[in-house]
Amino acid sequence: MAKTKTKTKTKAEKHLKHLYYFGKTRTEGRGVGKELLGGKGANLAEMTGIGLPVPPGFTITAAVCDLYYKHKGKLPAGLMDQVGQYVRTLEKELGKKFGDDKNPLLVSVRSGAAISMPGMMNTILNLGLTDQSVVALANATANERFAYDAYRRLINMYGDVVMGIGHEHFEEAFGKVKRKYEAKLDTDVPTEGLIELCSEYQDVYRHFTSKPFPQDPYTQLELAIEAVFKSWMQPRAVRYREVENIRGLLGTAVNVQSMVYGNMGSDSGTGVAFTRNPSTGENRFYGEFLINAQGEDVVAGIRTPQPVAEMPSWNKQVYKQLLGIKDTLEHHYRDMQDIEFTIERGTLFMLQTRTGKRTCAAAVRIACEMVKEKLIEEKTAVARVPAGDLTQLLLPSFDAAAKESHTVLTRGLPASPGAAVGALAFSAEEAVERTHAGQTVLLVRKETSPEDIDGMHSAVGILTSTGGMTSHAAVVARGWGRCCVAGAGELHIDARQRRLTVNGKVFTADDILSLDGTTGEVLEGSVATSEPKMSGDFARIMQWADKYRRLAVRTNADTPADAQRARDFGAEGIGLCRTEHMFFEESRITAMREMILAENEAARRKALAKLLPYQREDFVGIFTAMKGLPVTVRLLDPPLHEFLPHDAESQAEVARVLGVTPAAVQARVSRLHEANPMLGHRGCRLSVTYPEILEMQVRAIVEAAIECRKKRVDARPEIMIPLVGTDRELEMLGELTRETIDAVKKDTKFSGELEILVGTMIEVPRAALTAGAIARHAEFFSFGTNDLTQMTFGFSRDDVNSFLPDYLKKELLPVDPFQSLDVDGVGQLVEMATANGRQTRKGLKVGICGEHGGDPASVAFCHRVGLDYVSCSPFRVPIARLAAAQAALKDEKPKKSAKRRAPSGE
Ligand code: ADP
Ligand code: MG
Ligand code: MG
Repeated sequence: MAKTKTKTKTKAEKHLKHLYYFGKTRTEGRGVGKELLGGKGANLAEMTGIGLPVPPGFTITAAVCDLYYKHKGKLPAGLMDQVGQYVRTLEKELGKKFGDDKNPLLVSVRSGAAISMPGMMNTILNLGLTDQSVVALANATANERFAYDAYRRLINMYGDVVMGIGHEHFEEAFGKVKRKYEAKLDTDVPTEGLIELCSEYQDVYRHFTSKPFPQDPYTQLELAIEAVFKSWMQPRAVRYREVENIRGLLGTAVNVQSMVYGNMGSDSGTGVAFTRNPSTGENRFYGEFLINAQGEDVVAGIRTPQPVAEMPSWNKQVYKQLLGIKDTLEHHYRDMQDIEFTIERGTLFMLQTRTGKRTCAAAVRIACEMVKEKLIEEKTAVARVPAGDLTQLLLPSFDAAAKESHTVLTRGLPASPGAAVGALAFSAEEAVERTHAGQTVLLVRKETSPEDIDGMHSAVGILTSTGGMTSHAAVVARGWGRCCVAGAGELHIDARQRRLTVNGKVFTADDILSLDGTTGEVLEGSVATSEPKMSGDFARIMQWADKYRRLAVRTNADTPADAQRARDFGAEGIGLCRTEHMFFEESRITAMREMILAENEAARRKALAKLLPYQREDFVGIFTAMKGLPVTVRLLDPPLHEFLPHDAESQAEVARVLGVTPAAVQARVSRLHEANPMLGHRGCRLSVTYPEILEMQVRAIVEAAIECRKKRVDARPEIMIPLVGTDRELEMLGELTRETIDAVKKDTKFSGELEILVGTMIEVPRAALTAGAIARHAEFFSFGTNDLTQMTFGFSRDDVNSFLPDYLKKELLPVDPFQSLDVDGVGQLVEMATANGRQTRKGLKVGICGEHGGDPASVAFCHRVGLDYVSCSPFRVPIARLAAAQAALKDEKPKKSAKRRAPSGE
């Protein structure tokens, strides 16, 4: 039994070595890894190991943090003895002594987990100073001002971080001293002012803790180490890990490092920099430094720092050395680094390095240039660019500076990225008219419906007060790459009065607003935008991605223009061509309404005959744009009532055209009304009731294909029957489709091969469950994951925004399942249906055409379960290409760990 006991030792208990030294004496932490040393500690060891000037110190592992919590908030026995030993090694190496009254050693105590967690805990600097050693420090450095500057910082940071005294109490004391000495900046305060400040600070400390500031350096150190461990579990750190989905870490490490001083005078300073420009990616050292400063002064905005480019006029030698270190680091880590450094009386020290965060444009440029510089391989470059961020490169955006001078009125959902500026149009017609008249407008609606398509297309941006990320407005806008902010609940839109009220402010048709579809912000006035360019590096990354991916990428497109745009972005076909939008144009809607309102088949066929040429013409345009590539056409899908006139005026107009009474129209409209249209008479159910609709659409497709053939345009239509739930439905409708294809061939005397595949959308859970039987009649499957998600969860896409935010906030769901495929539930249906379908029909072509086709995590899932392609809106095609390549590249490498990826330098 004793044996099993040793086996159940926790991960943390196995790591008996708790401390790792870095310095000239020895460096123990190289290759130990971030899991134990934290990103900061691992990189301090690494930098020391490759010979960079790093102040020596040691790292207490994250395993100790784990033990601290296992022992209910107690440091492991003997830890402080080991710490004492390591401090003595430090003392020997530096010739200083901790708490000494001649030449005191001071240290910083820094937190650092495996994944960097901004704001988890503030660092304590100058630890080890006491009333006695501060005098020693002043003497040893012959710099009294500096010694007391260091001491006041320690009392402040220690009081704040270890004892939880609000920073503002110290600020207040500082303000008094500054006023007394008429000092504007902290550097203007004279020595005697700083001495006074130290005693003021000690009073603040005593007042809030009822204890004097500790005068034993080891007590300071022990409490500081504990404070770092405690910070791991403070609410904001816990919350941050939850939000960022960081799991499975042992805790935070603690770095105890000897101090170097940037606050010793005008020959000293401190700075932060990136080895390349993090916004553009330009290969030029980029950063800021501040003379006579310590720690966070540079970023705290107390004084204005100088750009590093100005450093040569201050200290040329140090600047040159920094440039050398920049190259060393990039060669070592093979990525752009974000560094911290300090100069003590002309000597440079490195205090931190980690992988630098960057914009997408910078990521692309850096990846390409590093391949050119032979720092990394193509595959690494492909893996490194965050696929989801590529939209940043394809859409106009607001200048960050320009945005600052405008008021943010409210915030909605970032439904479709981009930036749009325009006057307010309160109806689709108004948007069309004013656009025709040369104005730039935003369509402002409570929500949109298919009737608004023309207006949505005319407007430069769309703003709605209700609806979620997959509301009609959001889906359509994303498809076009049109900027859209949806569900901005604080807006009160009075379409009749043509007035918009938001938080007490009123806007009318002539007022101009700016929409940021990337953040969801609605801003007052006209914010300046910048147009992005498709750079050479972007194209290169995409080319490389295509080499490594297995999944094909298609697009969802309903018009030749969209098809062409998607093709330019690299789409290899259309995965979803919706036919309903083709019926909304003015010339067609009347014939469509005539068809819907027909009382019998003959009347319906008559109206359908009018629609046929329009449909054929549309298909010829799309097949031509996509020549040589497959085009999956989905037969009519929405409930018919969406096409009907709902207000009295347009009902009267239809009545006039049809030669019936308005009352008759109204009666038919109300008969077509459905309580639950999403689950109603739509999709293939329409063709079951009205087979002639299917016949007309198939005829239009086949005639268009034949017409193209005659013009030597290689048309490759695939016919997709939507919303199938039983194999019998597809058997019947598939047969009718194939019969119609043959009939058209015969009618047009076409004898060539057409090879039109007939398949179905899998979007009803029952279809997924019976996919094996359905595959008998389907030559391809395309997962309509929008509806499949809707029906699997029983969440209405149109209303989900009324409760989904609560689900996300309370973490009942990790992500919006309409944005990123619910792998555990809906994904199971996809995987199973694919396998069962292919069991029936070997080589069954399977794709996905929901919104998820452009979401990187969902694309990775599609790759994993062996789909043939994903299809997404034109603007997301590059994202899907890159995500597919990244998924394929992941297969090549054995997985390192199940944790969230953490770049090596973090
Ligand atoms: P964060 O993780 O928040 O960046 P750091 O531990 O890096 O916190 O420290 C905060 C600041 O203190 C940084 O500017 C860092 O360079 C500085 N600093 C930390 N340790 C020392 C030291 N031993 N000597 C001088 N400055 C230090
Ligand atoms: Mg730092
Ligand atoms: Mg559907």
